[in-house]
Amino acid sequence: MKNIFQKIIDKEIPADIVYEDEKTLAFKDINPIAPIHILVIPKKTIKNLQDISPEDNEIIIHLISTIQKIAANQGLDINGYRVITNIGDYGGQTVYHLHFHILGGRPLKWEVL
Ligand code: AMP
Repeated sequence: MKNIFQKIIDKEIPADIVYEDEKTLAFKDINPIAPIHILVIPKKTIKNLQDISPEDNEIIIHLISTIQKIAANQGLDINGYRVITNIGDYGGQTVYHLHFHILGGRPLKWEVL
């Protein structure tokens, strides 16, 4: 069965998309925990960071460059921001499609919840 992010990639459910190209998609988190909270995902099905293989190198470099572009577009490059990826149950992952959270728009504390 498709997970929620695959449905967003396939345009079966709506999302507030801020960036899209042939390899990546970025959209606003539905439950933001910071003034700016954007999720950046590959279109390729990769479960999480632990599931990345050497053949994904190009995609991962592309994702990082997409994060940089989005951060700059949102003005986050000036004061800084945080990128998080949760891995597995103990890591707090709830959607099993690789995603990077971009968090910013205010000073962020460092807490392990
Ligand atoms: P994680 O807990 O790291 O797996 O992150 C999953 C994130 O996806 C959470 O922050 C959710 O708020 C977010 N999320 C779940 N469903 C949607 C959706 N339909 N559109 C946007 N964000 C979503």
